[in-house]
Amino acid sequence: MASVRVYNATLMTMAPGFEPVAPGELVASDGTIDYVGPQRGNHSATWDTEIDAAGGVLIPGLVNAHTHLAMTLLRGYADDMPLHEWLTTKIWPTEARLTEDDVYWGAMLGILEMLRGGTTCFSDMYHFFNAGTRAAIDGGMRALPSGVLLQLAEETSSVQAAVEFALQVRQDAPSRIVPMLGPHAPYSCTDGMLEQVAQAAQEHDLGIHIHLSETFDEVEQVIAASGLRPVHYLEELGVLENTVAAAHCIYVDDDELEVLIEKQVGIVHCPISAMKLGSGYARIPEMLAGGARLGLGTDGCASNNRLDMLQEARMAALMHKGYTGDPALIKAEEALHMATVGSAETLGLGEQIGTLEVGKRADFTIISLDAAHNQPLHNVFSQLIYAVEAADVVCTAVDGVVLYHNGEYPHLDAEHIIARANECAMRLVNSQ
Ligand SMILES: [Zn+2]
Repeated sequence: MASVRVYNATLMTMAPGFEPVAPGELVASDGTIDYVGPQRGNHSATWDTEIDAAGGVLIPGLVNAHTHLAMTLLRGYADDMPLHEWLTTKIWPTEARLTEDDVYWGAMLGILEMLRGGTTCFSDMYHFFNAGTRAAIDGGMRALPSGVLLQLAEETSSVQAAVEFALQVRQDAPSRIVPMLGPHAPYSCTDGMLEQVAQAAQEHDLGIHIHLSETFDEVEQVIAASGLRPVHYLEELGVLENTVAAAHCIYVDDDELEVLIEKQVGIVHCPISAMKLGSGYARIPEMLAGGARLGLGTDGCASNNRLDMLQEARMAALMHKGYTGDPALIKAEEALHMATVGSAETLGLGEQIGTLEVGKRADFTIISLDAAHNQPLHNVFSQLIYAVEAADVVCTAVDGVVLYHNGEYPHLDAEHIIARANECAMRLVNSQ
């Protein structure tokens, strides 16, 4: 049974009512946390891995609740464009040439980046579901893969095939891989598809990962087609009776907000993508005040251009202060909550990850506060949200297995992954 001990840490468990503890200790065996709390005295036991976290903060692994992982290949390929033009002239034509190999290496590149920045779990909606899933398995991370289900003029996805694949993954893959169903959005799926997804999710206890009300235009489109606003439309089709992680939720009115809160729909806030694409401001302060289930995601690399959850949490804390003029909105504690336990809950994994507690999975991140930009230390929450950067992460572990430590990836060949991803990216954009 593999075991790990982290000691000398400033411990931030993120459990309800917790206080930072220093020095703190965490012990896990076989991927499960056995002890977490104040550092204990002499130990007679030994561990397979011991990590001295002196000068570091130990937090639950960050959870990226919405991304399109292999879009790392399009990082910086097309920026600063209006959304529709960006999608139709750049992103979709390039994505149409994607191969399974591209998705695998693009996803592996994303995994390197996320581990480097302290992220341990991600929810990925993308084409070539099987390649993305394979990358998640090989990369060692906790992942919730979902294929994109779409109804476009030239493409109709099969819900049945997606369900079968999800059940297969559940049966064959390690338990840290949790498949979901990924209907793209209310405007890009038919009502029949959404109904089928809702029923299959119920029948097989599968979560649903969807985009919801990201732009004003798509809301108008749904109203014109169905007579209902998007949240009511999904409610009527039975979609909201399941575990749902809904990315964006920017254009929701008061009634819709009430439904999202009452149904405890997971709302995934993606502040950087929303700002970069000029999509608008989600009503996060009201959602928080109303008790919504709220997490954070980076969205794809083409609209971010990073998969950096520390930066995302910082932007979540800053964005709403900026446009409301109220600097007391979204406190550092709330932003860190969203990036950890909040995101875990949006994905239906609140019982397993998101906090460091006995019995939960040992997914953790250690962030060094030694650098000049992190000194002096008055408040750990403030430092983690307003001062640290991804490069301050020194250790990232999933199920107690260290996947990144002091610049090294013990289980991955980073150089090879970067080279292969670059080859795929260049071929993709040069083959039109
Ligand atoms: Zn997205």
